[in-house]
Amino acid sequence: QKKIPIHLQQILREVMKLTRSTIPSNIQITQDIQQDCPMVLAHPTQIHQVAMNLITNAYHAVERKSGKIDVRLTETRIEAGELPDSILAPGRYALLSVSDTGDGINPAIIDKIFDPYFTTKEQGKGTGLGLAVVFGILKEHLGDIKVYSKWGNGTTFNVYLPIIAKSE
Ligand code: ADP
Ligand code: MG
Repeated sequence: QKKIPIHLQQILREVMKLTRSTIPSNIQITQDIQQDCPMVLAHPTQIHQVAMNLITNAYHAVERKSGKIDVRLTETRIEAGELPDSILAPGRYALLSVSDTGDGINPAIIDKIFDPYFTTKEQGKGTGLGLAVVFGILKEHLGDIKVYSKWGNGTTFNVYLPIIAKSE
């Protein structure tokens, strides 16, 4: 499969359509998708998978308490040293942000969540592969993922994908 220039907002539109048809209506899903977000070089199905995995996790985090999920797409600049322990070069990035009002992630395990087969879900409910797959896809795209979570207070995953430089 080859990477091609894609508009993330188109992929997100598809993902949100799917999401709304599968997630029950007591879960509020808001979205703020920048429609003129510049293109990224990517495997469309893999990026679709990234968004689906993050939204599915957000759903699992809020389903019990009928919480909220927020999906955002914006363009951002990363300056040198801005993101702690990130491999990202300074430059322009598409930022996909998936937040939920779930219970958050225990600080004791947060370093493990991207490990293959790590799950806190009941037997049969989680494979522990979702975030490992997401992580692999982002490395493959020279992107990165950061998690911010307050134990008891919700979680945000920020996904960065490099924007294709405009040729003058
Ligand atoms: P799985 O969903 O099959 O458990 P993942 O790799 O997708 O595997 O996630 C690994 C673990 O990370 C989850 O079991 C959960 O403990 C934690 N996690 C991921 N996303 C969230 C979230 N939005 N809120 C709380 N915990 C999360
Ligand atoms: Mg998962």
